[in-house]
Amino acid sequence: MFEYAPAPESVRPQIKEHYGLFVDGKFTDAADGADFKSVNPSTEEVLFTVAEAGAADVQNSVAAARRAQEAVWGPMSGAERGKYLFRIARLLQEKAREFAVAESLDNGKPIKETRDFDVPTAAQHFFYHAGWADKLAYAGLGSDPRPLGVIGQVIPWNFPLLMLAWKIAPALACGNTVVLKPAETTPLTALMFAELCQEADLPPGVVNILPGAGGTGAALVDSAVDKIAFTGSTAVGRAIAKSIAGSKKRLTLELGGKAANIVFDDAAVDQAVEGIVNGIFFNQGHVCCAGSRLLVQESVADEVLARLKDRVTTLRVGDPLDKNTDIGAINSAEQLERIAALTDAGSGEGAEVWQPDCDLPDRGFWFRPTVFTGVQQSMRIAKEEIFGPVLSVLTFRTPDEAIAKANNTPYGLSAGVWTEKGSKILWAAERLRAGVVWANTFNQFDAASPFGGLKESGYGREGGRQGLEAYLDV
Ligand code: NAD
Repeated sequence: MFEYAPAPESVRPQIKEHYGLFVDGKFTDAADGADFKSVNPSTEEVLFTVAEAGAADVQNSVAAARRAQEAVWGPMSGAERGKYLFRIARLLQEKAREFAVAESLDNGKPIKETRDFDVPTAAQHFFYHAGWADKLAYAGLGSDPRPLGVIGQVIPWNFPLLMLAWKIAPALACGNTVVLKPAETTPLTALMFAELCQEADLPPGVVNILPGAGGTGAALVDSAVDKIAFTGSTAVGRAIAKSIAGSKKRLTLELGGKAANIVFDDAAVDQAVEGIVNGIFFNQGHVCCAGSRLLVQESVADEVLARLKDRVTTLRVGDPLDKNTDIGAINSAEQLERIAALTDAGSGEGAEVWQPDCDLPDRGFWFRPTVFTGVQQSMRIAKEEIFGPVLSVLTFRTPDEAIAKANNTPYGLSAGVWTEKGSKILWAAERLRAGVVWANTFNQFDAASPFGGLKESGYGREGGRQGLEAYLDV
């Protein structure tokens, strides 16, 4: 086995000591002067301070977004809006390296993921939706679909820039303006995106960025917006749905998941093992659609598990800015605590825990890749979203049993199927209650492909022609 020397990324983006809120095209401090710190989870050092938006700032931003929507962005032709979106997409590509490093510093995820996935996919979303801006009349949503108006958007910390792109690109393409609240632990790339909007000469008020925590999000939900688009936990999604019930506001929810990754006995084992690793260890397992429950057919379970453990032993955990790193830092001390608590619960309930013997850095928030075997469906690690690099392995004997176990969850975001037989893929995909089913692959995303959940994983779709509907009055 080769040992690789460290290969640290050399570019360092210009991170300011302090960022303001981005309201009406300008950076400004919070009305009440509040601010908070953003920490690098791999070192626990403070990266910068940032203004924290309160209710008054939310009100100002929504008013700015309303003016911009009614006077400028709404009346603008689709072709003109498309030009702005193309410009944003190109600027993101030009600044891709800076954005990738900044995301790794603020979030803790490995540079190879921010560089090869987060930033390019974010740019792709702007290119894709730029193309739609002047073709909305041909999207099959009526001959003259209208924008909804002002959209409040709240996003989580696991893909900060990418979730921003998923939210802002379609909203703007459809003629809406936005007030977006990034997650409290990862506001950096949203603020850099605000700077990029200035550089793109986007009219003031079209995009407003309000850093803050749950209170800021709740104030945005209560404000005079026309729609809330939320990505985050099912608990908060449920609270938002309750609080806007009875109002005229529209709502889309992209919530949690507990996906089954099903390996049948005829699957190509090495390929499946790569897919299992990608499914649960990509982005430290902080992925709503992570393949966190491996369902493997009993007859091949020993072989799959042996090869899986061999493969996991080669994963490198450590410095997110090292280009060889596979698993970076856990995003926050709170998330690390939650992962540790659920893992303890797994051992406590009798599952067998396995971790490779890898060194972890002294400072920062880290968790070894973890595989639980002997997992029963009643255990917390089989039912609850861990949102960390922890895989729960269950076995099955027949295809029917696999489907029954896979669907035995309140969630319904994603699933994976590994088999040589196309007919078995189609048979399983028809029966799996999940918004997306991947076959002989996992975690594939494309701006043209709608993404979203069933059951407690939420409603509404993001991406593709279907995703436009969530931002149009049809
Ligand atoms: P979270 O629900 O705690 O927070 C998400 C966002 O909501 C943050 O910006 C937070 O500040 C804000 N928020 C918190 N309380 C709020 C309130 N009362 N009103 C309005 N906003 C509030 O979730 P998290 O821990 O940041 O993110 C992880 C969760 O997100 C996981 O459950 C994951 O599955 C889910 N997620 C889903 C998708 C998807 O597309 N389905 C994508 C990524 C993450």
